[in-house]
Amino acid sequence: MEMNSAAIEDIVKQVLAGMKDVPAASKAAGPIPATSRAAMLTGIEKFEMKEFKIPELGDNDILVKVEGCGICGTDAHEYKRDPFGLIPIVLGHEGTGEIVKMGKNVKKDSAGKTLSLGDKVVTCMIFKDNPDITMFDLNKQNVGGADVYGLLPDDETHLNGWFADYLVIRGGSTVFNVSDLDLESRILIEPCAVLIHAVERAKTTNILRFNSRVVVQGCGPIGLICIAVLRTMGIENIVAVDGEDKRLDFAKEMGATKVVNFKNHKGIEALAEGVKDAFGGYYADFGFQCTGSPVGHSNIYKFIRNGGGLCELGFFINGGDATINPHFDLCSKEITLVGSWVYTLRDYATTFDFLKRANAIGLPMSKLITHKYKLEDINEGFITNVKMEGLKIAIVN
Ligand SMILES: [Zn+2]
Repeated sequence: MEMNSAAIEDIVKQVLAGMKDVPAASKAAGPIPATSRAAMLTGIEKFEMKEFKIPELGDNDILVKVEGCGICGTDAHEYKRDPFGLIPIVLGHEGTGEIVKMGKNVKKDSAGKTLSLGDKVVTCMIFKDNPDITMFDLNKQNVGGADVYGLLPDDETHLNGWFADYLVIRGGSTVFNVSDLDLESRILIEPCAVLIHAVERAKTTNILRFNSRVVVQGCGPIGLICIAVLRTMGIENIVAVDGEDKRLDFAKEMGATKVVNFKNHKGIEALAEGVKDAFGGYYADFGFQCTGSPVGHSNIYKFIRNGGGLCELGFFINGGDATINPHFDLCSKEITLVGSWVYTLRDYATTFDFLKRANAIGLPMSKLITHKYKLEDINEGFITNVKMEGLKIAIVN
């Protein structure tokens, strides 16, 4: 009796939810076609538009109509060299879209939030909160490899990445309901999670405080988002370092107090003086190294005071060796150094709240997406990305 009434209640709820959402969802999303386009990377630097049958959904599966997906450094890496040996593959993991169909067992997302037709979702590369996890461990730890949409080997489903019109999310995958975020915010979740993680790593040093002087080196998307995260935490004394005035102007918009163009300073000593001047005669308490440049790594120690801290997060991929002087840079200065890579599942959920706070205090997050391309123009999008023009490039369907 108990179970029956509970089950009935569930069904009634579902019907009510369905009545509310189905017309809206179908109006916005239209009828589901029999096939879906997908941009498949079929060779080095070559995407081809393919048409795949949209498969029957299992009871735990979700069909998502893709709205957009950011191009990640990892995607560009695979596009240029196929280091993961995944060709042919449908890439795209920074994607988001709307649930248009779901199996009867699908009720809640990975955070326990209800899932309904019409909800906007993202997937996450990481399925559990493991502090030791790294990107290259993912394949080993993944349940059946079903989580890393956009880095999955091709199979009979084909619709495995977000650079497509539809994505099939299989049961057991990490999926979040992010209906309360706008499209741009949803596309930025993955890169933002990298910074939430880096700041969590930085906090383990016990050096980062409200009134800390923080230097952020590198004003690409990662450095700019770093400034935004610091601002939403209430840290206001931020100096940004980069070689391009356009990026430094954006850093100011994101909340950097002062900026330093390294091209205006000859040699590392002069540059360190420039950073010190920007802080009103002090070195930084803490530094975030957000470039992939070995010289950048060598330099940042000189900007940090004795007893200060440093988070190195710029080397997502192997950018080569960097030279430091262990005596002068680390030991005698007693610098506390942490490295940071990717994020944990907990950081991912924290990121949703960060994006809401960033929007609430008026940080121009959506301006990070400088270029939008249609799915059929994905080759152009990647060419723009590889040329390092702009900041975040997104495919928007
Ligand atoms: Zn990414």
